[in-house]
Amino acid sequence: AEASLRQSQKLEAIGHLTGGIAHDFNNMLQGVTGALAMAKRRLAEGVAEDVMRYLQVAGDATARAAGLTRRLLAFARRQRLDPRPLDPDALIHGMSDLLRRSMGPAIEIAFHLRDGAGHVVCDGSELENAILNLAINARDAMPSGGQLTIATEDLVLPAAEVIAGEEIAPGNFVSIRIQDTGTGMTPEVLEHVLEPFFTTKPQGEGTGLGLSQVHGFVRQSGGTLRIASRPGEGTTIQLLLPRSATPLAEQAQDAGPTPRAGR
Ligand code: ADP
Repeated sequence: AEASLRQSQKLEAIGHLTGGIAHDFNNMLQGVTGALAMAKRRLAEGVAEDVMRYLQVAGDATARAAGLTRRLLAFARRQRLDPRPLDPDALIHGMSDLLRRSMGPAIEIAFHLRDGAGHVVCDGSELENAILNLAINARDAMPSGGQLTIATEDLVLPAAEVIAGEEIAPGNFVSIRIQDTGTGMTPEVLEHVLEPFFTTKPQGEGTGLGLSQVHGFVRQSGGTLRIASRPGEGTTIQLLLPRSATPLAEQAQDAGPTPRAGR
């Protein structure tokens, strides 16, 4: 009985993993498909200028998909994630085209980024996935449009705080806040959102793995998630990652293809 229990737990873990991968992959494919459709439309209209940019977005999304398969291979080889020092502001900046494309025309995005004070140490492709997951949830909660705010802040927890039943030690954090003006969640939904496979979306649209994956990732990175939501008012989710004050080494800068310029 012991062995078969372990076996079924293992199968369950594999189920979570493959479901999570399918979920992330689907997000990336949506990015590629959307960008290619736009490029095609522009070419059909005879407007060449934007085409290059859309192809760049499609290229970035395929690079993310390659990152995902790399993680999958790493898992198969029983390797851990690849935590490195990174500047979350630069990472978000590098995702801005992808985020705009994923939100569609009815959603306005406001970026409030710090000027990269402290950095965080975590797996960059996991962090990108987490942000994209949260943004897509926000989009799904704003079917008739609204505003998505993505803000980074340096944050000090002066005392231990219990978040989602886990005690978080006091310290310096970088907060990545993803806020929407969507439907919000009832207390009943809020209570279950971190559970794997919990979804309120129609069959085939939600896997219920997004938030549990994001939660697992931030916990592994020494951080946590804060969620605040009210029906009719929208949802605010904060990713808290431990902040490291030492300067970011040049060689560790891994902010993706877009150099940090403008906003
Ligand atoms: P999925 O998106 O596949 O349903 P998640 O774990 O990402 O899985 O989310 C679980 C549930 O949490 C969603 O089905 C939805 O009910 C709720 N939820 C998540 N994010 C938001 C949001 N920004 N606004 C409203 N509800 C949300």
